[in-house]
Amino acid sequence: MSLDFSFSEENVMLVDALGEAMKPWAGPRKAELTEMVSNSIFPQELWQTFADVGLMGCLVPEEYGGTDVGLLPLALGFEKIAAMGISPNILLVTCMDSACIARNATDAIKEQYLPDIVSGKSKFCFAITEADAGTNSFNMTTKATAVGDKFVINGAKSYISGFEVADYMLLVARTTSQEDSKDTKMGQYHGLSLFIVPTDAPGIEKQLMPMAFNEGVGQYSLYFDNVEVAADQVVGQVDMGALVMFNSLNPERILAAAMCSGMSQFSVNMAAEYAKERKVFRDTPIGCYQGIAHPLAMAKSEHEAARLLMLKAAWAYDQKWDAVKVGSLANMCKLMNSESALHSVDAAIETLGGSAFTVEQGLLPLWNGARLLKTAPVSKEMILNFIAEWELGLPKSY
Ligand SMILES: Cc1cc2nc3c(=O)[nH]c(=O)nc-3n(C[C@H](O)[C@H](O)[C@H](O)COP(=O)(O)OP(=O)(O)OC[C@H]3O[C@@H](n4cnc5c(N)ncnc54)[C@H](O)[C@@H]3O)c2cc1C
Repeated sequence: MSLDFSFSEENVMLVDALGEAMKPWAGPRKAELTEMVSNSIFPQELWQTFADVGLMGCLVPEEYGGTDVGLLPLALGFEKIAAMGISPNILLVTCMDSACIARNATDAIKEQYLPDIVSGKSKFCFAITEADAGTNSFNMTTKATAVGDKFVINGAKSYISGFEVADYMLLVARTTSQEDSKDTKMGQYHGLSLFIVPTDAPGIEKQLMPMAFNEGVGQYSLYFDNVEVAADQVVGQVDMGALVMFNSLNPERILAAAMCSGMSQFSVNMAAEYAKERKVFRDTPIGCYQGIAHPLAMAKSEHEAARLLMLKAAWAYDQKWDAVKVGSLANMCKLMNSESALHSVDAAIETLGGSAFTVEQGLLPLWNGARLLKTAPVSKEMILNFIAEWELGLPKSY
C-alpha cells in the first residue's frame, strides 16, 4: 500500500488559477460582494469566474464539456474559496446535481443539461426537504403521478436554497406510496424518483422563508399544483430514486466539509495575524499569551486531522469505493470539519475580542455558516446514527 500526501500538478494548477481569479473578490471587491450578499443580490460575475476556472466541469465527463477531474480537485477548490473568506453560494448544489446527472441520467438528459452547467449558463437547486418529513426523507408525500407521457406533481417542499436564481431543480418525489413500497423487495428504499423540473414551470408557487441570517440566496417553501414534467426527465429509474439520492448526497457532504475546512483556515490564519500585531499590555503581542495561542494551536491541529478525512472521502468517491463506505467517510468528514470550523471561528472570535463583531472582520457570518453546516445538509445526530448503524453494526433506535 502506498500513501502519497502530495497533490497532482493538475490539482495544484486548478487551485492556483482559482486563487488568482478570486483575488479581486477577496481584496478590492470584498466590500461590494459583502453588500451583494447582504442584499440577496446574486453575484453573477463571481459565478462566471467559478465556471471559467472550470469548477462546474470537475464532475462532468469530457463529452459533455467537462474535465471529469474528480471530486478531490473540486473539494480543494471549495476549500480555497472558503479560505479566502467567500461563500460558494449555490455552487454546492449545482455541482452535486451535476454529479447525480452524470452518474445516473440518460444520455439525452446529460446532453441537455450538463454542457450548460459547465459553462455557467445553468444553475440548479435541490429539493428534498418537506415540512412534515424533515430528517426522515422516507416520510415525504410530494407525489408524482404518471399520466400518459408525463408526470404530474403535487405537494410542497421547504428550505429550498437558491430557488430564485436557479434555472432548474432536481426534485425528489414519491411515485409509489410508502404503504405500497413496504411490500416490495427494496422496502422503504422503493417508491421515490428524481425529476429535473424547470423553476419557472407553471403550477409552482414560491414563498420566501424569513431566515435569521443571510447566506446570499434565499430559502423557499415551494407549492406544486399539478406541475407537469415530461416522463423523460426522470434521473435514474422510476421508484428507484432513494439510493440514487443518498449516493448523490455524498459529494454534497464532502464539499460541505471542504467549505468548513476553508473556514477553519481563514479564521485561524486571520486570528494568528491579528495576534501577532495586537498589543494591549506593555509591548507584548496578545499572541504571546497562551490563553490566546493555545486555542488557536488546538484549532489548527483539529483542522489538520479533519481535513485529512475530507481529502480521503473525496479520493474514495473518485475511486468509486463502495457507496456505503463512501457514505461513512462523507458523513464523518462533514461531522469533523463542521466541528473544527466552529472551534476555529470561536478561537478567532476570542482572539479578536470586540473587533470580531465588526462587519469588516467578517467573522460572525462564518460562525453562522459553520453552525448551519453542522445541521444541514445532514445533522450531526443523523451522521452519528449512520456511523453507529453502518460502521459499528449497532441496532437502530428509530
Ligand atoms: C439554511 C438552510 C438551507 C437549506 N437548504 C436546503 C435545500 O436547498 N434543499 C433541501 O432539500 N433542504 C434544505 N435544507 C433543509 C435541511 O437539509 C434540513 O433542515 C435538515 O436536514 C434537518 O431537517 P429538519 O430541519 O426538518 O429537522 P428535523 O427532522 O425536524 O430534526 C430536528 C432535530 O432532531 C434531530 N433528530 C431527528 N431524528 C433523529 C433521530 N432519529 N435521532 C437523533 N436525532 C434526531 C435532528 O438531528 C435535528 O437536530 C436547508 C436548511 C437550512 C436551515
